[in-house]
This record gives sequence, C-alpha cells and structure tokens, in this order.
Amino acid sequence: MKKNMTTTAGNPICDNQNSMTAGLRGPVLVQDYQLIEKLAHQNRERIPERVVHAKGSGAFGELTINHDISQYTKAKVLQKGKKTRLLLRFSTVAGESGAADAERDVRGFALKFYTQEGNWDLVGNNTPVFFIRDAYKFPDFIHTQKRHPVTNLRSNTAAWDFWSLSPESLHQVTILMSERGLPQSYRHVNGYGSHTYSLINDKNERFWVKFHFKTKQGIRTLTNKQAAKIIAEDRESSQKDLFYSIENEDFPKWNFQIQIMTEEQAKTCAFNPFDLTKVWPHKDYPMIDVGEMVLNENPKNYFNEIEQSSFSPSNIVPGIGFSTDKMLQARIFSYPDAHRYRIGTHYEMLPVNRPVNEVNTYHADGSMNFAVRERTDAYYEPNSFNGPVENSVHNEPSLAIEGDAARYNHRDGNDDFSQVRALFNLMNDNQKSQLFSNIAESMQGVPDEIVNRQLALFKQVHKDYESGVKKALGF
Ligand code: NDP
Repeated sequence: MKKNMTTTAGNPICDNQNSMTAGLRGPVLVQDYQLIEKLAHQNRERIPERVVHAKGSGAFGELTINHDISQYTKAKVLQKGKKTRLLLRFSTVAGESGAADAERDVRGFALKFYTQEGNWDLVGNNTPVFFIRDAYKFPDFIHTQKRHPVTNLRSNTAAWDFWSLSPESLHQVTILMSERGLPQSYRHVNGYGSHTYSLINDKNERFWVKFHFKTKQGIRTLTNKQAAKIIAEDRESSQKDLFYSIENEDFPKWNFQIQIMTEEQAKTCAFNPFDLTKVWPHKDYPMIDVGEMVLNENPKNYFNEIEQSSFSPSNIVPGIGFSTDKMLQARIFSYPDAHRYRIGTHYEMLPVNRPVNEVNTYHADGSMNFAVRERTDAYYEPNSFNGPVENSVHNEPSLAIEGDAARYNHRDGNDDFSQVRALFNLMNDNQKSQLFSNIAESMQGVPDEIVNRQLALFKQVHKDYESGVKKALGF
C-alpha cells in the first residue's frame, strides 16, 4: 500500500493536483495552505553556495588501516586493522555550482572520517601545495579567481597580476598549468592533506606529518582541447564518472600514505616545513604505507549529503593535532565560520555532518537546534549535577614557540624556486610543452607588463621555463 502524502506538519493531503478556487474559474483561496507551503519551500530550496569549491561531487566509503603506525599516533582511527566509514567530496575551486567539471583548476579533496572519537576532517586538494602561505592573501587570491566586479567575467589579467606579484604561488601555478592541472575525472587524482599536521603517540610524543592518498586508478589528464570538446557536450563529466563507477560497483581506491618529520628534524630542515607552498622531498622524508581508502556508496540524496556536507580542518581526534602552518591556523577559523553562515549554527547536527559517537556540549539554543536533550539541571559547567566533564588525558604535549610577536614578511628570504625547479626537471619534453602552451593560452590578453613580470619568475626557476613560455607566446 502507498504511503499517505502529508504537509510538513504531517496532515494528510487530499489533492496534490488542483488548487482550491472560488468557483470553477475563480481566484485561489488563501486557505489552500498546501499550495502556499509548496511555493514557500520552493523559494527556499537553495542555500548560499560555497564561496569556493561550489561545484562538487561526493560519495561514502571506508578507510582501512593495514600497517602499524602506533609508534607515531594513538589515534584509534589510525590503528592497524581499523575500518572507518568516510565521506569524500571532490570539487573544482573557482567555478560556481553550475560550472563545468572539466576545467583547468585545482580539485578539492575533502574527507570526513566518522571515527569513534568524533569526526576527523582532512580538507585537502589534489595538489600537495597551495598558491599562498599567509591567510591575509586568501580573500585577495580568491577574488582573482572569481568574476571581475565590472565585466562579471573571469579575468586572466587578475590571476596573472596576483601570481606575478606573489612569487610564493609559483609552485602551485606550475602544477595547475602542467598536465595534472586538468584531471580526466575525480577518480584519477591523488589527494593531499596539504598542510603539515601532527601525530601524537601514547607516550605523548609529537611527530610532524603529511597525509597522501595516491589514486589506484592512475593519474589521467585531459588537454585543453579535449576538455573543450567534453564541456561542449557534457558539463557534468566528473559527477557522471564518479556516480556511475560506484553504481556499477567499479569502486575507486586510493593508497593511504604518510610522511613523518621529527620535531628535531623540523628545527634543522632547510626550508620551513610548515609552509603550505612547499612539499617534503620523498628522499628525505620517505613515504610510509598506512592503508587503503575505497569509495563504495553513492549518496541517497545529493543536497542532503553532499551540498550540506561541511568539512573543517578544525575537526581532529586525539592522536592527530595541528601545526604552526599559518594557513592551517586560519582555516581552523574560517571553515566552521563559513558553515555556520551557509547552513546554520547547528550544521553539525545534520545527519551527514553528525559524528557517530555521543556529542556532549554545553552550547545552548540557536537556530535549528534539533538535538533531543535529556531533562537536566546540568546546563552549565562546572556543575554539581553529573554533567559531562573535560578529560585531561587528551592534553597534547606543550609546543615551544619562539620569537617576538610581529608581522614577519612571509616573502623575505624564502626560496620559491628550488622545489618548482625539481618539479620542472621531472617533466619530460611533452609535459614541458603542455606546460608552456597551457600558460601561453591562459595569458592571452594579459598586459605585457604582467607577462614580463611572470616571465622573470619563470627564469628564476629555469631558463628553459622562461624561454619555453616565451616561444609558446610567440615572442
Ligand atoms: P620525487 O621524484 O620523489 O616525487 C615527485 C612527485 O611528483 C611524485 O609524487 C609524482 O607523483 C609527482 N608529480 C609528477 N609530475 C607531477 C606534476 N606535473 N604535478 C604535480 N606532481 C607531479 O621528488 P620529490 O619528492 O623530491 O619532489 C619533487 C617535486 O615533485 C616537488 O618539488 C613537487 O613539485 C613535486 N611533488 C612532490 C611531492 C612530495 O610530497 N614530495 C608530492 C607531489 C608532487 P606520482 O608519484 O603520483 O606520479
């Protein structure tokens, strides 16, 4: 037997086809409440789209830990044999929610692990580095990726102007303009936690860590030309690929690996290991196998489970900690702030964001607070009524901070070129020529002054980088 259709208050509906009118051809009556409810809900079907990473796709899956890394961390989610359900949301960065998938852009790689010690979110990208290292530049950088306030068009001039004035962007710009800057699908990208985080073991010792997820499907990319053809026919190429792979039980997988740096090593490291524009070279900090991640379950409802999913690097579990990376520190604030605005104060009560363990806070009231609370006199803390209490066992080891509080110039004395050179030297001739032509294409219409400033940066990486781009530009 079919279920009864109801109003949101659960009242049965007698007719969902015909408005109630005064006479056959007469006006609609205000008392036709179901019509009003339907139209009012339609007006509210959209929530503000994400300022960045608005276009995305996601799926649920499982993380399995196959190796013993308990010497580095006590986190229960990272103990050998552990399996943990997860949500992974992929995205492009700059495009609005209706943008095409097959665009040259960084791909978001945002993970939420539903662990027994609360949610652990690892909110990274398909690249190990980022365009900036100080969050003061975050809104400025994003403005260059979005639309010009007058023309309402995307502006290559703004992008290259900002990049050419911000040498710290060179590493990420080179990856973005390389063949990996335009992935064939979400299944064919690596994921990186990007920031340096910390791991803490059961002796309360701290290790610095980088998280990596290497695609088992292999890296696959598109040329600009191939992507243009795809976009002309299909704006949802990545969504389709991910959804139907999972629907057809061709479950995508990633190897989960980490790199470890001791606190002592960090003190003598030649570069700042907390700088988001740098990687840790593999030969100095070798990859350590940890486990495997699989995506094996499509969302039942895109809006509920993907559009409303909210990830934040502030969500960590005992045994995993932050680092002094300035960008990480800023994201710890800005991500939850975005969700409170975009979804609402109690966004973490929604099923997709809700931890699987018990949540006990003293936060009160606020919009959409739909927690079912026990009757209690313990609505503040400390109290004499057996309310939840802190547990000092979760105290991290103290972290020594050095120096005077000041606005240190984050561009002074920074080597923005060596790691880019290492990447450039890894590329074969074909990859280099794709890099040059992708850059030249994206510089069309950009004023000479800006192009020349950027060419001077390429030259500091490698003379062949500068000359290759010049040639592609037709100089
Ligand atoms: P390695 O030769 O040990 O590693 C090179 C890495 O570069 C591999 O992880 C490879 O990924 C990746 N890679 C290859 N081509 C590209 C590309 N076009 N865009 C982005 N990544 C690419 O050298 P190092 O560890 O010394 O690193 C050298 C340079 O490689 C770095 O300066 C950085 O630019 C880049 N890189 C380094 C990473 C790291 O964590 N050390 C991570 C990713 C990039 P894969 O194995 O999947 O092919």
